[in-house]
Amino acid sequence: MMLQQTQMERGVRYFNRWMQEFPTPDSIAESSLEKVLQLWEGLGYYSRARNIYASAKIISNTYNGKIPCDEAKIRSLAGIGEYTLSAIMGIAFEKDYAVVDANVERVFARLFNCTDKNLKKAVKPLAQELLPHGKARTYNQALMELGALVCKKIPQCANCPLVPYCESKKLNLERERPVPKAKKEIIPVLASFCIITNSNNEELLRQRTNQKLWNTLWEYFGIDTIIFDNASSAEEKQNVARQSILIEISETFKIPKAILEENISDNAFCVTSNYTNHKLTAYFFSWHVTEEFEQIINKNISGTGPYVWTKNTEQSAMPSHHRKAHQNHKEKG
Ligand code: SF4
Repeated sequence: MMLQQTQMERGVRYFNRWMQEFPTPDSIAESSLEKVLQLWEGLGYYSRARNIYASAKIISNTYNGKIPCDEAKIRSLAGIGEYTLSAIMGIAFEKDYAVVDANVERVFARLFNCTDKNLKKAVKPLAQELLPHGKARTYNQALMELGALVCKKIPQCANCPLVPYCESKKLNLERERPVPKAKKEIIPVLASFCIITNSNNEELLRQRTNQKLWNTLWEYFGIDTIIFDNASSAEEKQNVARQSILIEISETFKIPKAILEENISDNAFCVTSNYTNHKLTAYFFSWHVTEEFEQIINKNISGTGPYVWTKNTEQSAMPSHHRKAHQNHKEKG
């Protein structure tokens, strides 16, 4: 599950750390979702971590802590799609299930000179048909490795054991396969946050609730999506971000904007990152509040949502742009 949407090298680092903390499904089930999300932090697609946690509870309570070698039972766990099901059945249990990831799709598209638009649908039956009975583990991993190391984006045909069988190579079309997909439109997103600290050097965090993205993770106060002109310069974007955060703080905590203008510096830490089809530019301003302002903030946040003042930001699972901002803020003292 970690390796979906994650590169191998990164996945291995996370996997080793994860296995030290959670060597068994029972150990996940006995932990907290907060701890699971914290270990997952940086891998993105947090629903996968929530699904592992939910599945571990089922495995622990219903299957005595052992993942069942049974298609229907595995399917009924949280977040199990065709790919994960095949990977568990084929690689973990060595049952005759072919696993088709992007690497395997590319190998088959070239091997059979396949121009089908729905490549996954076209490749899956071919991969299944060629699977040698009882050898799913070696077969699946060999195909994935071939795609990752030899039949790469630019194919290394000179090193490939499949040259004698490869249709697109025979036709000199190996670089034209797979047929490129239409490029996804990338949507630019501007966001603005404020790292608010109090006289005890605690940071104000709030938890995201009922959100499609990064739900239940902790973040600094601010706004996710600001409308802006895509042609804006970095300076213009930062100005828009600053004005937006001043208004947001002013309206939420009932503090006049003119006072905030004086107290919140126009220096900001900028983080850019990509997620799904969005390119995020997030500005993080900072504000060290006096006790008087802390009281005003506390008065106006009471009862409006899960906020905390904390010194333990390290222990709180955060989206990666907030984590970067936290580290930058800590380094600057
Ligand atoms: S011969 Fe070339 S194109 Fe064909 S499978 Fe091997 S590396 Fe890929």
